[in-house]
Amino acid sequence: MDIYLIETPVFKIDGGAYFGVVPKTIWSQKYPADENNMCAASCRSLLIKKPGKLILIDNGIGEQQDNANHDSYYVDFSENLIENINKLGYTTDDITDVVLTHLHFDHCGGTTKTDSKTGNQIPVFNNANYYISQQQWDNAINPNYREKTSYHSEKFKFLEETNKLRLVKQNLFLTSCIELRLFHGHTPGLMLPIVKTYTKTLFFAGDLIPAKASIPLAWVSAYDLFPLTSIKEKEQILNEAEQKNWILVFQHDFYNECCDLKMTTRGVRGNNTYKFVDLFKNEA
Ligand SMILES: [Zn+2]
Repeated sequence: MDIYLIETPVFKIDGGAYFGVVPKTIWSQKYPADENNMCAASCRSLLIKKPGKLILIDNGIGEQQDNANHDSYYVDFSENLIENINKLGYTTDDITDVVLTHLHFDHCGGTTKTDSKTGNQIPVFNNANYYISQQQWDNAINPNYREKTSYHSEKFKFLEETNKLRLVKQNLFLTSCIELRLFHGHTPGLMLPIVKTYTKTLFFAGDLIPAKASIPLAWVSAYDLFPLTSIKEKEQILNEAEQKNWILVFQHDFYNECCDLKMTTRGVRGNNTYKFVDLFKNEA
């Protein structure tokens, strides 16, 4: 298995929203903010190459569009998903499976792009099946008032009319070494991968634990619909991850790509941080 962490356009999240009820006097010691109280946030994807399969997990905000949403989140488009896939020697047509952890705009925006001739949105990954949880699909197609601005349906609704949509109803092994596990605190049916490589197990912590600073149980994002559910889910997965020596991979942490964990008297905490590529230096 070859596995890559891919950068896509970065954006900024309001620090208060990022860390929920934690006061700025405390979170600002762990995560910097700019003069507008905005925190830089990555939107990383995972690309996994296995024999006969090239699996992409999430695809970021997508291309630059004339979009007020992009302005309010200060999106910086200098990293480009498609270019970064090409740099690894693959094209978008090589992708066999796209796993979308959920359908918020910063996770599935790269699913379509603008057709230069017609101006319409067209699919980017022409040969891929799409894995989305059934709960998330239902939630996104008929969004609640709180979440509806997070869903840009032109990025995913077309899948309904294809035979490429694979709706996942329960925890699933996509392959023998990629488990997709469901969580419901951030949004119903958030689906996060646990990936076993030759020597390590990685938990792609997505929006359940967006940054190393989000590891303490009460540090729950204000975007989470059900914070008490998030706390329970974080506690369970962090305990499992610590016991099994998993590595956490952060999708949104601008400053840390991955870390291992340690048990302390206050619960599980982040330990050493790593660059993703350094994790696999000694793997064949
Ligand atoms: Zn989200």
